[in-house]
Amino acid sequence: MAKILVAVAWPYTNAPVHFGTVAGACLPADIFARFMRLTGNEVLMVSGSDQHGTPIIFTALEQKTTPEQIAKKYHEINSKALAGIGISYDIFFETSHPNHKKVVQEIFLKLLEKGYIYPKKMPMLYCENCKRFLPDRYVVGICPHCRAEDAKGDQCSNCGKTYEATELVEPECRICGGKPVIRETDHFFLKLSALEEKLKEFINSKTYWRENVYLFTKNLLEAGLKDRPVTRDLEWGIDVPLPNMENKKIYVWFEAVIGYLSSSIEWAARQGVPERWKEFWYSGEARHYYFIGKDNVPFHTIIWPAILIAYDEKLNLPHDIPANEWLQFGGEKISKSKTKESSIFLTDYLAKYPPDALRFYLAMHLPEKHDTSFDWEEFESHANKLLLAAYGNLANRVLVTVLKMDGKIPPLNPEVLGKDEKELLALIENTRRAVEAHISKCEFKAGIEKIMALVHAANACFQNVKVWELLKTDKSRAEAVLHVFLRLLRDLAIMFYPYLPHSSEKLWKMLGYKTEICSWNELDAPLPAGQELTGIKPLFPKIEILRQETALGAKLPHLVVAEVVGVKEVPNAEKLYEIEIDLGAERRKIVSGIRQYYGASELVGKKIVLVANLKKAKIRGIESHGMLLAAEKSNKLSLVVAPALQKGTVLLEGGNGEVSIDEFKQTKLWVKKEGSILCLNAKLPDGREMKFEKAIADREIEDGTEVR
Ligand SMILES: [Zn+2]
Ligand SMILES: [Zn+2]
Repeated sequence: MAKILVAVAWPYTNAPVHFGTVAGACLPADIFARFMRLTGNEVLMVSGSDQHGTPIIFTALEQKTTPEQIAKKYHEINSKALAGIGISYDIFFETSHPNHKKVVQEIFLKLLEKGYIYPKKMPMLYCENCKRFLPDRYVVGICPHCRAEDAKGDQCSNCGKTYEATELVEPECRICGGKPVIRETDHFFLKLSALEEKLKEFINSKTYWRENVYLFTKNLLEAGLKDRPVTRDLEWGIDVPLPNMENKKIYVWFEAVIGYLSSSIEWAARQGVPERWKEFWYSGEARHYYFIGKDNVPFHTIIWPAILIAYDEKLNLPHDIPANEWLQFGGEKISKSKTKESSIFLTDYLAKYPPDALRFYLAMHLPEKHDTSFDWEEFESHANKLLLAAYGNLANRVLVTVLKMDGKIPPLNPEVLGKDEKELLALIENTRRAVEAHISKCEFKAGIEKIMALVHAANACFQNVKVWELLKTDKSRAEAVLHVFLRLLRDLAIMFYPYLPHSSEKLWKMLGYKTEICSWNELDAPLPAGQELTGIKPLFPKIEILRQETALGAKLPHLVVAEVVGVKEVPNAEKLYEIEIDLGAERRKIVSGIRQYYGASELVGKKIVLVANLKKAKIRGIESHGMLLAAEKSNKLSLVVAPALQKGTVLLEGGNGEVSIDEFKQTKLWVKKEGSILCLNAKLPDGREMKFEKAIADREIEDGTEVR
């Protein structure tokens, strides 16, 4: 038994928490904490809301309220959402809490006293109009590295590089738009340079860290550390505890990491055992794990250990920092997808779907070694095919069979076990060892993959042994088989518990247990024959995400690029052409009334945009399958073409069904000037607006002309 501090990155409190934060920090931390508790360790899991800094000030300005209000509002929303998804914090604290401020100020003064914090003048941007200094987000300008416009005062969102605001090209005050000047002002600096040797010593033994975390940190140290300012000219934040410092606050990067310590102290106080935090922070047996996203690495591998060393060398330093890469959204796959779900905020998710479905999907896609991406269609199929059909149905089939008998766990006569059941028992044991090893090493994705492999193997085995036939021919073997499968379900409930606590508890109760799942060692216990099952509830609901067609009752046109391969005049119809087109995978004929605008030879080779799912129609005896898009106004017409795209390229996914002309008209299409070209724009029936930059007007036509 050990003491383990599970420290989870503090979500910034100017917006609701989204899936990226859950996958990057909260969920892996929770899997780890739940596993460590089950295996008999004493766990303290801490986190909270990071509530200072300039982005909150600007969110408050936008929402016409105060930073306090914003910080409170999102703290409440996020605490609830994170509890809803089952993140089992022992405390979820706030950096605006007076007890956090107390710890921060004490550390600040101690470091000052020891000489690790020192005062220094530095040049800062100052707005003479607003009569204030302009830290971080108070200023915008051109990035000194990549020349991107609208770069913020501390970091460029285009190239990601950080810099001092004074390095910005053509800086502008974000409040009044005025041109700031440079003024000297007093600030305090953290003497990182003096801590370099001790940090190197600390890092040298960390070769077991994730490679990216270890190498990144080592490189920073080898490049040499620069002292960093720890104060800012701001109204919102923690006061500098010194006289004549009214307009200065402690910089958010310095104080937020101290939250791991202050929240531990607060937790102990709330437990009524105020000294208990020391067991986690001073004991040589305690191990500290930090769960964070990759953007936070330097703050946890360099800055936080530096503060700890400078403050009190006896305090425990991080043992492991399994930082994650990004979970991405809106990739190529998502934009083409037919789903209408777009919110990635936890609160929106929880209003519609159960927590374990998201935990499962994210655990299977943790960005442990490289970026992964979230996809709603895949989320749905994981929930229905893996959770419901594979795991849920296995539980259902076993439980139903037992309930049809006497509803009690049957006895096990090992003598009658067949080869299939023996192999399954061995696989359970192997899986359990593998899961233990993976979770202990923070390889959570590999852990859940192993458990799912067991589920699949068990399904195949259950199919093979045909227990319903055995029940008629060999009761003793049938009972042994069912015992093994009930044992499997119990073990799945325990092994899945760190990942899927809600459904694990449900299954556990169905197996007749009265207490909650509380020990991993229960895996070694024999299954109590005679224990009564408590009935069946579905473990997982079927999940249906919102789709365009079902959600709207309106269908979308399927827009595809097609190449004109042949043009014929339709006899006795002076406006019509019969046009043969190539969609890549197929050829079609359409009839189109553009003869007075385009010559036949002009058309061949053009890549037009086709409404491919329009209902077929007979025009002058010719079957026309689809319609080309053209912009037309006051006797002028221009085709919409896509010369830069391959034939067959789908511009808008319209689903499988056909659309009638009336349904097609619910999507508004027009051409709009973008620079010097006119490109296709659409407003879909659900209100979404789209722009197709590669589908352009073939000829000059008035800006805004409708397309049909
Ligand atoms: Zn840049
Ligand atoms: Zn100004």
